[in-house]
Amino acid sequence: MIPNIIKTEMLLYQLGFKGGFVVQIDVSNFHGACSCGRSHEIFVKEILVEENALKKLPEKLSRIYTGAYADISVICDTNTYQAAGEAVEKLLPGCNMIILPAKDLHADNHGVALAEKGLKISPNTKLIIAVGSGTVHDISRYLSKNYGLNFVSVPTAASVDGFVSTVSAMTWNGLKKTMPGVSPELVIADTNIFSKAPYRLTASGISDLLGKYTALTDWEISHMVTGEYICHRVCELEMTALKEVCSCIEDLRGSLEEEKTLKAYERLMYALLLSGIAMQMIGNSRPASGAEHHISHLWEMEVINGPLDAYHGEKVSIGLMIVVHTYHKIKNAIKNGICKVIPYKGMEFEVLQETFGKKELYEGILEENTPDPLALVDSDKLNSQLPSIAGVLDKLPSESELLKLLSAAGCKKEMKEISLEEKLLPITIRLAPYVRNRLTFLRLSKLFKIKNETGD
Ligand SMILES: [Zn+2]
Ligand SMILES: [Zn+2]
Repeated sequence: MIPNIIKTEMLLYQLGFKGGFVVQIDVSNFHGACSCGRSHEIFVKEILVEENALKKLPEKLSRIYTGAYADISVICDTNTYQAAGEAVEKLLPGCNMIILPAKDLHADNHGVALAEKGLKISPNTKLIIAVGSGTVHDISRYLSKNYGLNFVSVPTAASVDGFVSTVSAMTWNGLKKTMPGVSPELVIADTNIFSKAPYRLTASGISDLLGKYTALTDWEISHMVTGEYICHRVCELEMTALKEVCSCIEDLRGSLEEEKTLKAYERLMYALLLSGIAMQMIGNSRPASGAEHHISHLWEMEVINGPLDAYHGEKVSIGLMIVVHTYHKIKNAIKNGICKVIPYKGMEFEVLQETFGKKELYEGILEENTPDPLALVDSDKLNSQLPSIAGVLDKLPSESELLKLLSAAGCKKEMKEISLEEKLLPITIRLAPYVRNRLTFLRLSKLFKIKNETGD
């Protein structure tokens, strides 16, 4: 029988499926010393992705937890309670169920306070199980870290790549922040559960993964320009996840009665988890989040737009299209010799104050941008690197290729699909790089002047 488990103790990660190996990745060389000069650590001990995996929860749990079920708090929302929480409650009789209202639930101060209230009812909690998608996971991993508790993940949708993340993606006092968190020790992903999630969530997971195209481009260019640390093998791992999702898009749209559709869901979930493992290896989201994610974060901060009814991945794929369009445009200008490097004028304090200031986020944005990542860039050197940068940008898929992929997967592609006015595009491109202290090519483009183009 082909093992369907990813185990760090085995130091061998295998992506195995009943229908035969689709992809097999031996990452034994990733754990520990690496050619990038660092030693990578992986915290998740076991990942199970298969049909009826949930039934194995008590057995798998017993390997990492010996306490009473009464000391386990299960965090879910009103939707995921129905999808899987109820089943978990039956499997772990006496556990403390914390059911959050699904409507308007976000990974923010309010969401955390609601879950914390539930934790207080069971003060002896030793372990938290997150049963849900991204939001429930971020709230749970944040609380696990805060209270020093062990953490287990039961994803109910293949909607994000952050299930095994070691940090919590939160909106804290209005600012998008990466806060401390813990990795789950165990992930139980039941195909019968996550394949039945609303397809919109699945499409959001595909979108989140396709965003790696620009995330990896940003990392590579930043490494080239500033010497920022990079691990090429982790990049390869992300590329594998990316290729894996591209090859299963067609099958994901099939009937859930068909074996090949279920296998496609498993491949998507594996790809999402692989991307998460890549982040664990680096210790932050650099391999998985670049300018496309910064656009998504900017819109989530609601400083240029109102509240949006859109999932994380949906904003990421729209951001991806904006970034890919911009990057190809600059690449062509470089090739045509009409892109030149101009002296850095410093941060755009006025527009930052005007927009972020409205929500009292100006100070927070200044703090995030200290030190200014563009201050590290040597403009003469950058000028000489333009041809190599164009070479990196050449590896990006074309806009039409990406549109084809996103359309085939039923993903969001344009701002208007999430009720964002097209006129917000220039300010989005201008402000998004400021939401994170991370150099992206979009931020670097503030140092470029394209001939015949007015403004920045
Ligand atoms: Zn490495
Ligand atoms: Zn993401």
